Amino acid sequence: MQKILERAEAAGEQLSYDAVVIGGGIAGMEASLSLADMGYRVLLVEREPTIGGKMFLLSKVFPTLDCASCIATPKMAAAARHPNITLWTYSEVRRVRALDRGAFEVDILRKPRFVNESLCTGCGLCEDACPVVVPKELDFGLRGRKAVYIPLDTAVPRKAVVDIDNCILCGQCERRCPAGAIDFTQKPRVYRVRARAVVIATGCRPFPAELKEAYGYGRTPNVITALQMERLLAPTRPYNAVLRPSDGREPGNIGYVLCAGSRDVTAGNPRCSQVCCMYSIKQAQLLLGALPLADVTIYYMDVRAYGKGFEEFYQRARSMGVKFVRGRVARIEGLPNGDVRVMYEDVEEGRLKSAVHDLVVLAVGLLPDNEVLKAFEGVTIHTDELGFVKVDPEDPVRTNVEGVFAAGCITGPKDIPDTILEAAAAAMRCAAFLKEVEARQT
Ligand SMILES: Cc1cc2nc3c(=O)[nH]c(=O)nc-3n(C[C@H](O)[C@H](O)[C@H](O)COP(=O)(O)OP(=O)(O)OC[C@H]3O[C@@H](n4cnc5c(N)ncnc54)[C@H](O)[C@@H]3O)c2cc1C
Ligand code: SF4
Ligand code: SF4
Repeated sequence: MQKILERAEAAGEQLSYDAVVIGGGIAGMEASLSLADMGYRVLLVEREPTIGGKMFLLSKVFPTLDCASCIATPKMAAAARHPNITLWTYSEVRRVRALDRGAFEVDILRKPRFVNESLCTGCGLCEDACPVVVPKELDFGLRGRKAVYIPLDTAVPRKAVVDIDNCILCGQCERRCPAGAIDFTQKPRVYRVRARAVVIATGCRPFPAELKEAYGYGRTPNVITALQMERLLAPTRPYNAVLRPSDGREPGNIGYVLCAGSRDVTAGNPRCSQVCCMYSIKQAQLLLGALPLADVTIYYMDVRAYGKGFEEFYQRARSMGVKFVRGRVARIEGLPNGDVRVMYEDVEEGRLKSAVHDLVVLAVGLLPDNEVLKAFEGVTIHTDELGFVKVDPEDPVRTNVEGVFAAGCITGPKDIPDTILEAAAAAMRCAAFLKEVEARQT
């Protein structure tokens, strides 16, 4: 794909919008919908073939245990259908230039799907026909996908995409597609877009668990991340059951290691990731529902249950039988039978101990997904020492560049309600800025 993208051609048309929103997670969708409802024309740009961000991969949300995709999918559909929102998925912002007050020039690369979006009906027959199987990114490798695939059943847009790097060009999908939608002649195009404001909503990426070598992720098959567990518990889950990866057995004894890559100077991230305690407590409760005979142990330093209803949620997990062990985990190793040994310091007893689990889940922290900041030319968006976008403490959606706003996990780890709140605030501030610019121009 890289070679193909290098030959991207400039698209002739000049497009213009009131705001370009970068990132189609819950923050970007919410900000776009708020601006669009106020009558502004928004271009929502998402790097992946579907919008939804992390939220539509989740099982349920703490502390209400509402189904995450039941909340996310109507928003995804609304963002895709809103007459004031143009949605570009599978697209990358290549360059952002501030020309003047309230005038940005944004170059956006639209990658070829090799599928004609207006013809594709999302029937999935091409997937059945394709002989190539590779690990599925959205399930973090827990299952495979074909070289032509629909990202998830709930994807928006529900359109196929050809992963050209793994495609063997056998043409089976093309022959099978009843709509004639497969199109290997598609080319990448770079569009130059004029916008009066920009909202950065590129969210977070999980801490790369393999960097914490002592925890064995990548070497020990039954050490997984919390995002993998989210997928195992989600309605669109891989096996329709919680199974451990090495042998497909139902785990009877699961350990959670909190602060895996957070509050850890040795891992380069001294900060608390804010959501890991709560999502682990949530997953523990869901596991006790899915596997009623299972034991769940959570190794923690402190439990940070700071929000409304969080303490009660934590106490509920305790009363359901989730075991909380206060201890810093030093090392995790795989045993020949696939089980996993956790070595830790029991802080309350002041002793080194170990315990064996069928499956261990690393509650990985959140880091900023801030690649897009490199695309800004002539201006630098200020970040903190970890790379999260710095915002004005008195106006926490405003960046140092006039007309550029930020919302969601790109400004710091946070949960979904706070993300939504921030996105609505960013839309409001952006609307006020647009009004001010309009007033000056008239
Ligand atoms: C394991 C886990 C469980 C969680 N459980 C809960 C829970 O139960 N309850 C809760 O409230 N919160 C939970 N969270 C937190 C929740 O996921 C976040 O609050 C939420 O996803 C933040 O949304 P966002 O839109 O800011 O970022 P994201 O969801 O990360 O979305 C960002 C989007 O931007 C796109 N993007 C990135 N860079 C670019 C670019 N350069 N160009 C275009 N697009 C780009 C990404 O592809 C993505 O679609 C959990 C998090 C994790 C990791
Ligand atoms: S490309 Fe064709 S076969 Fe594949 S999902 Fe779309 S319409 Fe169906
Ligand atoms: S041409 Fe590529 S995507 Fe289509 S079936 Fe063959 S390998 Fe799969």
